[in-house]
Amino acid sequence: MNSNAGRAIAVVLLTTLFGVRVGETLVFQMELPTASGPAPTVHLLVRINATLDDADVDQARATTDVLLASVGIRTEWHDCRDVRACDLDALESRPLIVQLFSSRKLRGGDICGEVIRDPIMAPTIAIYVAQIVELRSVFRLRGVDRGDLLMSTLTNGHLVGMTIAHEVGHVLGIRHSSVGVMQARLSSNDVVALRRARLTFTPQQGVAMRHALGTKKRGQAD
Ligand SMILES: [Zn+2]
Repeated sequence: MNSNAGRAIAVVLLTTLFGVRVGETLVFQMELPTASGPAPTVHLLVRINATLDDADVDQARATTDVLLASVGIRTEWHDCRDVRACDLDALESRPLIVQLFSSRKLRGGDICGEVIRDPIMAPTIAIYVAQIVELRSVFRLRGVDRGDLLMSTLTNGHLVGMTIAHEVGHVLGIRHSSVGVMQARLSSNDVVALRRARLTFTPQQGVAMRHALGTKKRGQAD
């Protein structure tokens, strides 16, 4: 990350998964839900500059979908490897940009992901895949030691998807909590819960996230 980016980040929201929380101040909305209409939808424009294979990308997408669906939010995943899928003008609601970096965050400690926001650009979720790969290795070794198949078969895709969902939570105004998806750090038991689809947002977080999605139309100031 260059110095310009560093300065930009200094004035925007920075929240981290598995790392230090710097601040949380924003609410960002993308599509209007209605009481009787379809589930609110988050459009994710996913830019992949990382050494993830297709299976990991598919798993990341599935994990993100399941975690957000658990609180009634639908995910539209636009893979920018197909440029047509990332046509901003074709979208009816403002997307979130998800940038998968192959590197670690420079001077970022053990940060796996964060939300970067400034007054002009749409919020960007930065995912640092190298850090996630290292974390995955730690959990897999623990799984081998414990004879726990769910941990020993953990993939990068599981953790990337989990990190994306966590950061979407931050974009929608959710702070860290002591349980569930919005924890700042995951334990081995959390990883097992994730694999069993038992790691979720809390019901209160779900209400707040859906509310955030429904309180502002496209084109309004953030
Ligand atoms: Zn966080």
